[in-house]
Amino acid sequence: MKPTAFEYHPATTSEEAVALLAEHGGDAKVIAGGQSLVPLMALRLARVDHLVDINGVESLSGIRSEEGLRIGAVTRHRTAEKSALVLERAPLLAAALGQVGHVAIRNRGTIGGSLAHADPAAELPAALLALDGRVTAASSRGTRTIDASDLFTGFLTTTLEPDELLTEIALPPWNPKAGWSVQEFARRSGDFAIAGVLTVLSLNGNGRVDDARISLIGVASTPVRARAAEQALIGETPTDELWSAAGERATEGLEPPSDLHGSAAYRRQLTRTLVRRSLHEAASRIGAAA
Ligand SMILES: Cc1cc2nc3c(=O)[nH]c(=O)nc-3n(C[C@H](O)[C@H](O)[C@H](O)COP(=O)(O)OP(=O)(O)OC[C@H]3O[C@@H](n4cnc5c(N)ncnc54)[C@H](O)[C@@H]3O)c2cc1C
Repeated sequence: MKPTAFEYHPATTSEEAVALLAEHGGDAKVIAGGQSLVPLMALRLARVDHLVDINGVESLSGIRSEEGLRIGAVTRHRTAEKSALVLERAPLLAAALGQVGHVAIRNRGTIGGSLAHADPAAELPAALLALDGRVTAASSRGTRTIDASDLFTGFLTTTLEPDELLTEIALPPWNPKAGWSVQEFARRSGDFAIAGVLTVLSLNGNGRVDDARISLIGVASTPVRARAAEQALIGETPTDELWSAAGERATEGLEPPSDLHGSAAYRRQLTRTLVRRSLHEAASRIGAAA
């Protein structure tokens, strides 16, 4: 199928993109890498009257260190995945990006596009959540920042307004002594994960857990932080039993979707196992710089 007719607006500055979004409101959509939007338009699952292309907006691309890390919305997945800055300051993000589809997808797909698309099976929304990151959104009303925990509200839905342009993400400073892990399961390499777990873990001077972040992929309509499991880890001494208990805790109350790829019960069991593996791997990386 082909998309319905639309007017194409190539923007060269973010101000121009914001003005176009203000003018056309709900009839307009930003196009970045096009890896999600173009298939949706071609299948007529999305109807767009005005397409605002931000690929030519240079100021929206790039990675810089500033109180942590800032990454422009149009930065490609592959650029961030291979960036020395990201590898050093956000190794979890680099590893998560390495799991996104195939290299061809990552060469086009953008950081902002993946977050704005908000697929609960996608790696980047879960990584932003695990890293306590935030996004900046610009509109004709000004700019605002949105914490990852306030960004994802439902399946393919965020708190971004239709006229808002996601301009960059900000990640807080990385604790170089922290361990991290990305564990997911897909039937074929490059497929969206059936379930996945991203973990950040650190220990205090007494060898007890002082920070634990567990972000789950594919088990709800949004990415989810397993807060109760995280809390239960604080102050504990790492053991395999502790990681198994965290897996149990992380899946309590979860209502994963059932579909052709797996039942809810299968996803719950997978998540239990992946949480255990992920914490085990994160613990093994503690103190080892990326
Ligand atoms: C075969 C295939 C396999 C894939 N596998 C995976 C996978 O395993 N994991 C995964 O995470 N993803 C996967 N993807 C999706 C891929 O990561 C997309 O690139 C990503 O989801 C969207 O990024 P994009 O830049 O292409 O956005 P686009 O497709 O251009 O846009 C997606 C949505 O975001 C909006 N948008 C884009 N940029 C902005 C912005 N700056 N501000 C506001 N709104 C914006 C658009 O209007 C649209 O609604 C796959 C895609 C394909 C085709």
